[in-house]
Amino acid sequence: ARTVIGLDIGGTKTRGVRFQDGVPVRDESAGSSNVQNVTREQAKANLAELFAKIGGGAVEEVYAGSGGIDTDEDAKALADLIAPHVPGARITVVHDSRLLLAAGGASTGVAVIAGTGSAAWGRNQAGEEARAGGWGYLLGDEGSGYWLGREAVRHSLRRMNQGLEPDALSQALLDSCGVDDPGKLIALFHSPDTGRRYWAQQARLVVEAAAAGDETSQRLLVQAGNDLADLAAQAVRQLGLDGPVILGSGLGMNVVPIQEAFKARLAERGITDVRILDQDPVFGVPRLVAEQRG
Ligand code: BGC
Repeated sequence: ARTVIGLDIGGTKTRGVRFQDGVPVRDESAGSSNVQNVTREQAKANLAELFAKIGGGAVEEVYAGSGGIDTDEDAKALADLIAPHVPGARITVVHDSRLLLAAGGASTGVAVIAGTGSAAWGRNQAGEEARAGGWGYLLGDEGSGYWLGREAVRHSLRRMNQGLEPDALSQALLDSCGVDDPGKLIALFHSPDTGRRYWAQQARLVVEAAAAGDETSQRLLVQAGNDLADLAAQAVRQLGLDGPVILGSGLGMNVVPIQEAFKARLAERGITDVRILDQDPVFGVPRLVAEQRG
């Protein structure tokens, strides 16, 4: 049997699936090993934990899609961390958005990740590729979980500055963060005890408040959907495609108001072949390995 390990390395976790002749036989997770977000030491430790759970052994190939892979050097650095766990295996490291297109069953089109971070990537029939966004949380990541969490904090601070009482979203944020005063969110935001993942997890509060009728939260979800659509549209235009556009990852797969805004905005631009991914990106690995073998 051919053994392939697929890795999906996002801003929050590392997910590993062991495939035997294309069939998933083990599925494990550990913390993020994305070197844009965690130190090399943490990445090493989290990969060690993942491989301890999923088993190294007679593995022919490891195919990893990771955030923060923007240059060949980035890919090589991550491959070097994986190599000791799978002696003799072929190791391929690509940007995480590539897994998503394959998981949607497509070889051409544009994939949009809306998870802890965000990014769009696509490829056309001629093999040309285009990327939009995916610059990381400090430079962009519009429409991502981190972006929504940070916008919720900014909203609470604006209200505080205006002398207004906390509204539904602000109160939910204060409760979730365990502070009694919006002013305390400023220090907490910059504290080493919180970080990218912590704030991305607060995106859930925006989704819940929106569902309960909070207008600010509803507006934020629409803006997230619009911003993600604009990333996709840029890649679509550059590649001269008309689709498909595939939206995936945690927020992309689960948050209906984001999906609706995303589709509506793309429809305004004449892009109507829009799909929502129904499985995690890591399940694109068997297809990518098959494509690689030709
Ligand atoms: C990273 C990208 C990644 C995206 C989605 C961003 O924060 O910079 O490389 O593709 O998150 O995971």
